[in-house]
Amino acid sequence: MNTQGRPTAPGSATKSDAQTFTGHRGLDHEEPLLFESGRADTTGVDLAEPKRQHTRLGGLERQAPIGLPGLTEPETMRHYVRLSRKNYAIDSGLYPLGSCTMKHNPRLNEKMARLPGFGDIHPLQPQKTVQGAIGLMEALAGYLMELTGMPAVTLSPKAGAHGELAGMLCIKAAHEARHVTDGGSKRNVVLVPDSAHGTNPATAAFMGYAVKSIAARDDGTVSADAVKAALGPDVAAIMLTNPNTCGLFEPEVVEIARVVHEAGAYFYCDGANFNAIVGKVRPGDLGIDAMHINLHKTFSTPHGGGGPGSGPVVLSAALAPFAPLPYAHHTKDGYRLVEHASERVDGHTPFGRLTAFHGQMGMFVRALAYMLSHGSDGMRQASEDAVLNANYVRAGLRHLMSQPFGDKPCMHEVLFDDAWLKDTGVTTLDFAKAMIDEGYHPMTMYFPLVVHGAMLIEPTESESKHSLDLFIATLADLARDAKTGNDKRRFKEAPRLAPRRRLDETKAAREPKLRWRPPAPKIAAE
Ligand SMILES: *Cc1c(COP(=O)(O)O)cnc(C)c1O
Repeated sequence: MNTQGRPTAPGSATKSDAQTFTGHRGLDHEEPLLFESGRADTTGVDLAEPKRQHTRLGGLERQAPIGLPGLTEPETMRHYVRLSRKNYAIDSGLYPLGSCTMKHNPRLNEKMARLPGFGDIHPLQPQKTVQGAIGLMEALAGYLMELTGMPAVTLSPKAGAHGELAGMLCIKAAHEARHVTDGGSKRNVVLVPDSAHGTNPATAAFMGYAVKSIAARDDGTVSADAVKAALGPDVAAIMLTNPNTCGLFEPEVVEIARVVHEAGAYFYCDGANFNAIVGKVRPGDLGIDAMHINLHKTFSTPHGGGGPGSGPVVLSAALAPFAPLPYAHHTKDGYRLVEHASERVDGHTPFGRLTAFHGQMGMFVRALAYMLSHGSDGMRQASEDAVLNANYVRAGLRHLMSQPFGDKPCMHEVLFDDAWLKDTGVTTLDFAKAMIDEGYHPMTMYFPLVVHGAMLIEPTESESKHSLDLFIATLADLARDAKTGNDKRRFKEAPRLAPRRRLDETKAAREPKLRWRPPAPKIAAE
């Protein structure tokens, strides 16, 4: 009982400005866990008690109820529908999360992915019954090679980070294969610029390589001289992102490729930002040896809570023989998937296998549908528009917010730092939280690490001018308040309108609650 003598209702533990009896805020319901809202004595199914059975469990059968919550079908359905409404998605609003490329996913792609011939097949089905699906994978592979200017591609990696692992395993296998001719040198170092995505050093470290960091120049890019200075007989590869995580095209990339190869190392390119250059630059022409493509970023397909990713890796001729299983082989009777290293087709010496089956079929269909519906001119325009939109945001905010590498054009994402917030008492985090009250998912914050208080905004090509204008006006309004100190609550108390206020993230990390415990009964017995 609370002080008014009313039963304590589900969400009332959360104090907010507009406290309600139920804890709900308008039609936005507070959502307890199924375990909290369900009742052990209720069940959604209506089966008669089984007749007493003779068990053969030797007295080990459960004595107490299992403790699963029981709900009616409507209650269960409402729980999941309400949860789904709490998921902020590109389908509900602008999602400027830099580096993640949260762009519109055309519904046509979804329709294609659900065609029974793609959606309802099984990876263990006889290959002659799925020739069309393998043909689709081959078509996608062909376009990926064409767009990147690379002679080979492996489709099975299931995300960008998985692709990094695939590409680096090819590099390792290539070094091992030429170990003898290479003078037996032990290459156990991977060079990674300090602006890299965390997955790059993580991949290298995971494989047992020592990571050697290369500092960026004052302009946010990597110099070939710095790479040259770090190279030696112990270096296996460089992992470089281009365009890089500061939203800049690496101007010395060709020279970097040259010095890396001269030192007997390979060039792994993180291609997560390929969406900025599709149809404009072919990475193969820059001298790279391996690059993953995040199909879920560059070629649409939902991600970030919306679905799985896919990270095909394109490979140079030097690395192609080591590509993992399985791969498709053309025969006079159609396609055949090579599943075993012992088959040794075309002198191929695969480093092994990355996944149980063949990769993310649904993502392949979506990516190919995206490519075919856009055409080469449409894909080029998507890249141009992504860059244009980022620069439009940059132009709209550059008089209010500071850019770490000077006032110059960016690629598909614009990077601001927190120098402009100096002495205001407002931090990047406060600013991002205040955006939530205005109905925007925050931009990427505090990444890349090389920029103090980084705010990385990627609007993508799919936002209209109208949408961008409102976004810019909103950020400008916030920026003016942050600078004048007009409304400190707007930042320090943000988010004020979200279902949850500011969370104690440090405590959550230091003292994680790893086990759910039953709460006290919610509605006290009268
Ligand atoms: C997204 C991203 C990755 C990792 O890709 P996942 O698909 O999330 O594993 C790697 N590098 C960069 C620069 C990225 O933006």
